[in-house]
Amino acid sequence: MTTQSTTLLIIGGGPGGYIAAIRAGQLGIATTLVEGDQLGGTCLNIGCIPSKALIHAADEFEKVIHYAQDSAQHSTLGIQVQSPRIDLAQTVRWKDAIVLKLTTGVAVLLKKNGVQVVKGWARVIDGKTVEIQQQGPQADAEPLRISCEHLLLASGSQAVALPSMPFGGAIISATEALSPQSLPKRLLVVGAGYIGLELGMAYRKLGAEVAVVEALDRALPAYDAELTRPVLASLRRLGIETHLSCTVQGMNAGGDAVRVRSAQGEESEIAADRVLVAVGRRPRTEGWGLETLLLDMNGRAVQIDDQCRTSMRNVWAIGDVTGEPMLAHRAMAQGEMVAETIAGKRRHFSPVAMPAVCFTDPEIVVVGQTPQDATAAGLDCVSAMFPFSANGRAMTIESTEGFVRVVARRDNHLIVGWQAVGRSVSELSAAFSQSMEMGALLEDVASTIHAHPTLGEAVQEAALRALGHALHI
Ligand code: FAD
Ligand code: NAD
Repeated sequence: MTTQSTTLLIIGGGPGGYIAAIRAGQLGIATTLVEGDQLGGTCLNIGCIPSKALIHAADEFEKVIHYAQDSAQHSTLGIQVQSPRIDLAQTVRWKDAIVLKLTTGVAVLLKKNGVQVVKGWARVIDGKTVEIQQQGPQADAEPLRISCEHLLLASGSQAVALPSMPFGGAIISATEALSPQSLPKRLLVVGAGYIGLELGMAYRKLGAEVAVVEALDRALPAYDAELTRPVLASLRRLGIETHLSCTVQGMNAGGDAVRVRSAQGEESEIAADRVLVAVGRRPRTEGWGLETLLLDMNGRAVQIDDQCRTSMRNVWAIGDVTGEPMLAHRAMAQGEMVAETIAGKRRHFSPVAMPAVCFTDPEIVVVGQTPQDATAAGLDCVSAMFPFSANGRAMTIESTEGFVRVVARRDNHLIVGWQAVGRSVSELSAAFSQSMEMGALLEDVASTIHAHPTLGEAVQEAALRALGHALHI
């Protein structure tokens, strides 16, 4: 057995782990990061980045198809296109090249900051010791045992499988859906959440027929009905069937349809040659000795305090392994904070704003409290929305659907939430988060000059409207 020691040992090289490692390296902490699969974790390899690449390719293809159909009659914009086709293998190669560029970049950054990267699956021996069976050129070497002063758990999460439809063959998770070798004729998506709708819409735009089965009585149940309305309209326009309050029972005997049961107990079959199961993700806490630490848990997630400390001294946890919200930017922010805390800085994880974006068509972004959240919290708030139908820029990009909404305290006008739905509204999330982190009042946003013509003018107009004097409506 080879042995080593380090100050900080990080298990998992996803956005949580690699950011913690880079920051620790910058701060001069001796750091080792262990990754069993690929640097970049779920986010860079099989999550955020590849999904957004596929969504972009699907959007572009749909646009060209639209122009081709338009040209057959009369082109609104005067653009003429004939017989567009997509080479899916090339699309996947393009997506893989982006992933490779980013993951290679992470490796370079880690090296530059003096982080030792060990390739292999870590097994926890105790709160200060980890054993690794190395992979790659070191695969034949004897196991490596590393002792550390601080152990950071950043093992992420994995897709939840359905007992009635375990992954394999035609039943796939997002991972397989992001590297398709062919397009299914009929895709059935189980779960109308983030992954189900982001990828379901992309597959429809690429040419597959798509149906979605959701256990609850509405799609995107995490968002309020006003925000999801434009997305539901888009699902209808694209011809995606949604079966709400339904659960799947398994494939039929012929293997060409999924048996579905409604809340009333009625059974039916939906034809499908591929099934994407996207019913959530769960923290990756099993199979690598974590249970031997007997940490306090929050259900399946590792319980942490506001400094990402677990119940064991000098054992820390960040990102998806600590539960919801399972978002890459949360993992990164926690990773940076833990590195700084270990370096002796006084840090706490208490963000005023944690943006969440759903990359459907149109996109949804939420930061802070909705009007309903504010009411439930006992706050007396004003809220106002400004529709993109009254925004010049939205008209010039043919995307007048959706709106920006602001929520602020009635007494002092402190902004407590922003929501938006519409094309490219993900890019407004920076303005929303910054205004809240800086404690902006409605007046601050209303009196900020916003460039014209931009979608951002709807942000200023929402604030003006909450003050009772919107200018363009
Ligand atoms: P992960 O990224 O899961 O990384 C954990 C790493 O630890 C993995 O590389 C794993 O191999 C490694 N590991 C685990 N156990 C061990 C062990 N014992 N030894 C060695 N290595 C180990 N979030 C967003 O914010 N925006 C998005 O648009 C978005 N889109 C997504 C799309 C999809 C399809 C999916 C699946 C997820 C998406 N997410 C998105 C969520 C995001 O990917 C996660 O929140 C984020 O990756 C969590 O980071 P993490 O570092 O906690 O874990
Ligand atoms: P999700 O929680 O977003 O959605 C799962 C959906 O499946 C829910 O609507 C749920 O009601 C439904 N469901 C659960 N069990 C079901 C069953 N048996 N039958 C039918 N429906 C069922 O989960 P996801 O889409 O798998 O994504 C996992 C996580 O990954 C998300 O929670 C999010 O944290 C992260 N993610 C984020 C983004 C983003 O930020 N844009 C994108 C993708 C994934």
